[in-house]
Amino acid sequence: MPGAVIIAGATVVEPGPELRDVDVRIEGDIIAAVEPAGSLAGSPVDRLIDADGGFLMPGLVNAHTHSGQHLDRGVAPNLPLDLWLVWVVYGGIEFSPDDAYTLATAGALEMLATGCTTVLDHAWVGLDGFDEYADAIMQAYADVGIRAGLAPMIQDRDIFESMALGHGAPAPEPLGPPADPDQLVDAMARFVERWRGRDDRLVPMIGPSAPQRCSAELLEGLAALARSTGVPVHTHALETRDQVVATRLRYGRSMVDTLDDLGLLDGHLSLAHAVWMDADEYAAVRSAGVTLVHNPVSNLRCGSGLMPFGELADSGVHLGLGADGAASNDDQNMFGAMKLAALIHTLYGDHRDWPTTNHVWRSCLGGARALGLDAGSVEVGARADLVVLGGERHVAEDGDALVRSLVFAEHGESVRTVLVAGEVVHDAGRSTRVDAAAAGRRSRELQHRIHAAAPERAAVFERYRPVLEAMHDYAATVPVAVERRAAITPAFALTTGAPT
Ligand SMILES: [Zn+2]
Repeated sequence: MPGAVIIAGATVVEPGPELRDVDVRIEGDIIAAVEPAGSLAGSPVDRLIDADGGFLMPGLVNAHTHSGQHLDRGVAPNLPLDLWLVWVVYGGIEFSPDDAYTLATAGALEMLATGCTTVLDHAWVGLDGFDEYADAIMQAYADVGIRAGLAPMIQDRDIFESMALGHGAPAPEPLGPPADPDQLVDAMARFVERWRGRDDRLVPMIGPSAPQRCSAELLEGLAALARSTGVPVHTHALETRDQVVATRLRYGRSMVDTLDDLGLLDGHLSLAHAVWMDADEYAAVRSAGVTLVHNPVSNLRCGSGLMPFGELADSGVHLGLGADGAASNDDQNMFGAMKLAALIHTLYGDHRDWPTTNHVWRSCLGGARALGLDAGSVEVGARADLVVLGGERHVAEDGDALVRSLVFAEHGESVRTVLVAGEVVHDAGRSTRVDAAAAGRRSRELQHRIHAAAPERAAVFERYRPVLEAMHDYAATVPVAVERRAAITPAFALTTGAPT
């Protein structure tokens, strides 16, 4: 456990009409004292961090990503999500556990360098070698020192089985290998057993890929595991219009009802995306205390639509913010995710209902709830997951303005020192834990291999493109209750009739 640390002379980043200039004393992994700036400077301490008039913020939270995609930056074309998925997931190279370690390390280093101290990794882990892959990813997080929840992403239904292909359309041969639900539940149970309580910074979680991609048997097994262990559950939910059609028509009911019947609809559950829920579904997740994770960059990259974020924030739904995987982002910078979250919801509605930068800020920190943690704060007793920012780039007269400046004008370039659980894990541009240059070389080599295999991934996709586009076109003809896309008039659709 780290010794006492003092961060001296920092302005706290927090919404509100005031600014606090403070010294902070950290003992172990907890903030032990927050006093006016200058009052703690002389007290004995193992390490003094002079913030030099800069800023101090709770570490940001990335509440949804997929570490296996961290080096997919720029590789996949823009496609609708359910088509993009086939492009990204099938074909290409097979990762070894070492590759999974390299990928998780690359993402964790990028996140710490841009002020994010907590990640929820919904990482694909195959049944073959499940233990080795999951442990390699957890070990990467343990080595880098970031706080992480790992929800190994599993499914036992073939991708085509999870889609509404259209009346009478035959499903192609399965794209993935068959998976036995009992074996998957056993593997998940072993993972939870191995990692629960092993490291304070690491949270084992349960991660079905999405309800429609899992058999009832698998979901029931995972729900029983969640009930018996109390570990958090994370899954994708109603990301796209196509998925509304698939779940409503093909399975005959609402996805939220399905989760409720399984006993999963409670404060342990977080749902990534939740773009296409209707009012009853949003009301049900709100009253159950479920966390919804907004992924604005990914939702635009794959044309998924716009979650009604401001309205949900105002109505008291627990919200988090995610980068999502780099195949649909293409980075892990939570400042970028916050900026887009604060901008895209001006595409609709009255300006008085637009989400504020405070909404976005609180949601980003609030994503910690998906790992069973409180949102971060600079208060006595809070987790000492903190980021010291240089003061050169931002000037503000009050807390609201400072938050606005960070959301709109910061990309991580001000990050100086990052602490997780009271330990400095990133300082002066580099990791204090791992050899970032060596990690960078491994990443670069893997990134070349990934990109060299892109044509193979494209070829797999092209083979299935007709059936996927037919599915997408069919889904577009099926009415659904809500609309989550903005509409603009095509450039040449209308004229004013003015003489030319
Ligand atoms: Zn995702």
